[in-house]
Amino acid sequence: MQEHDADVIIIGAGIAGLACAETLVAGGLSVIILEARDRVGGRILTHYDEKQRFPIELGAEFVHGEHPELIERIKRAGLRLRRINEEPWCLEAEGLRKCGEFWTQTEKVLNALRVTKPDRTFAEFLRSPTGRRFSADARDSATRYVEGFNAARAELISVNSIVRGLRTEEKINGDKQFRIVGGYAALVADILKRLPAAQVRIDTGTIVKQVTWKRSDVRVSAMRGRTRQTFSAKRAVVTLPLGVFQAGTVKFSPMLRKKQAAVKKLYMGEVIRVALRFRTRFWESIRPQPGAATLRRMGFLFSDDKNFPTWWTQRPAKEPLLIAWSPTWHTKESRGKTNAALVSTALASLAKILDMPKSKLRRLLLEGHVHDWQADPFSRGAYSYVCAGGESAQRELLRPEQQTLFFAGEACVEDGTNGTVHGALQSGSNAGRELLPGAKPRRAHPAARRTLQNQ
Ligand SMILES: Cc1cc2nc3c(=O)[nH]c(=O)nc-3n(C[C@H](O)[C@H](O)[C@H](O)COP(=O)(O)OP(=O)(O)OC[C@H]3O[C@@H](n4cnc5c(N)ncnc54)[C@H](O)[C@@H]3O)c2cc1C
Repeated sequence: MQEHDADVIIIGAGIAGLACAETLVAGGLSVIILEARDRVGGRILTHYDEKQRFPIELGAEFVHGEHPELIERIKRAGLRLRRINEEPWCLEAEGLRKCGEFWTQTEKVLNALRVTKPDRTFAEFLRSPTGRRFSADARDSATRYVEGFNAARAELISVNSIVRGLRTEEKINGDKQFRIVGGYAALVADILKRLPAAQVRIDTGTIVKQVTWKRSDVRVSAMRGRTRQTFSAKRAVVTLPLGVFQAGTVKFSPMLRKKQAAVKKLYMGEVIRVALRFRTRFWESIRPQPGAATLRRMGFLFSDDKNFPTWWTQRPAKEPLLIAWSPTWHTKESRGKTNAALVSTALASLAKILDMPKSKLRRLLLEGHVHDWQADPFSRGAYSYVCAGGESAQRELLRPEQQTLFFAGEACVEDGTNGTVHGALQSGSNAGRELLPGAKPRRAHPAARRTLQNQ
C-alpha cells in the first residue's frame, strides 16, 4: 500500500494553486488539489452573458503591466490582450470634466514617498512636513487613488509597502493596463486544461478543516458535503486567502504561531464592485459642458460620491457595461445588503454623478451583477495590504515550515505585487519550484532581497 495519496497536496485552486500545480507536474510530481468551492479560479470569477458571450468580471479584471509569467501564460493560451488607454473623467465642483490635475497631482504625491524607518501610514505621511507641502486637493486625489487601488485605508496602509509596489510596477511597465479579451476565466480554463489527469486530481467542493503535519508528512482533513475525508502527502502548499487565515477556520496542528502573529499585521482590503449592464452606451452622448467633449472616450470616472466614488467603462471594447467600485471605507454600510439593494445604491450614485434621474437609469438597465467577497467564507475580503510596520509579515507568511508546509497566494509575496493576479501566480510557481527535487531551501524572495538591499 502507498504511504501517501500524492507527493503534494495543494490547498486552494485559485491562480496560485493552479500555477503551483503546473510547476509540480512539470517536475514529475503527483498532486491533489483540494478546493472548497465547486469551481476553480478563486478570486478570478467571470460571468458570461448567455447570448453575447461577453465576459463580465466579478473579481479580477485588469492585467496590471507586463509581468513576464502572466503575459507568457496569456500568450500560450492564445488569448488576446486589449490595452486600456482611455480618458479619465473627474466630477469636480463645476461638473464633469476630463481629469487634468488629478493624475499629475497624484503622481507628485506618490513620487515623494520614501522608505523610512520606522515605517508610517499613508495618512501619517500626508500629515508630515513633506506631505503638508502638497495642496489639499493633491492630498485628496492621492488618498483616493491609494485607497481605491489598494482597497486600503490611508490610516493603516504602510508607506514602505506602497513604495515597494511602485518600484516593482516600474519594472513591469505597470503604467500599462490591459483586459483579457474573453475574460480572465479563459486563462484559468487554459491552465486547467494543461494539468494532466494522470498526475493531478482536483477535488472541488472539499472544505479543508484541519492540517496535521510533521516533517515530510501532512494529513489534511476536509469535509465534502457531510462526509469527512482525509488526504495525505509528503508536503503541502497552502494557498488560503489572508482572510481565511485570519479567521482561523482551518486549524493547523502543530499550530503556526509565528504566522498567526504575522497575519495580524496584514489587512484584507474590502471592496464592493457592481457591474451594471445597460441597453446602450447612453453615457457616450452626454456632453457635460456646452461646446465641450462628450463622455464617448471615457475610461474611468472619479468622484467623491460617498457610496460608489469610482466608475469605469469597458473601453475600448464597446460593451454597454459600467463598473461601480466602492473601496474599503464604504463596505461596512453595505454589509448584509442584498444584491438588488447594492445595484439600487449604485444606480443612485450614478444618477447623481451624471445628473440624470435614477428612474431613467433603471429603465436603461438590463442587469446588475455583484459578488460579495467580504461575506464569501472562502475569501473573507478582496485582497491584502500591509499595515505600517508590517513589512516582515509577508516574509513570515511565505516562510516554509520544516520544508514540509509551503505557502503561496497573493498575500504571500514580498515584492509589492500582493493583491494582484500576477503576484499570486508568481508566488504559486515559486512555491512549486521550491518543492522540486534538488531545489535549494529558500532564505528570502530574491526580488525582496534586491529591494531590501536598495533601501
Ligand atoms: C473584486 C476584486 C477585484 C480584483 N481586481 C484585480 C485586478 O483587476 N487585477 C489583479 O491583478 N488582481 C485583482 N484582484 C486580486 C486577484 O483576484 C487576487 O490577488 C488573486 O486572484 C488571488 O489568487 P490566489 O490564488 O492567491 O487566491 P484565491 O483566488 O482566493 O484562491 C484561494 C483558493 O482557496 C480556496 N479556499 C479557501 N478556503 C478553503 C478551504 N478551507 N478549503 C479549501 N479551499 C479553500 C478558495 O475557494 C480559493 O479558490 C481583484 C480581487 C477582487 C476580489
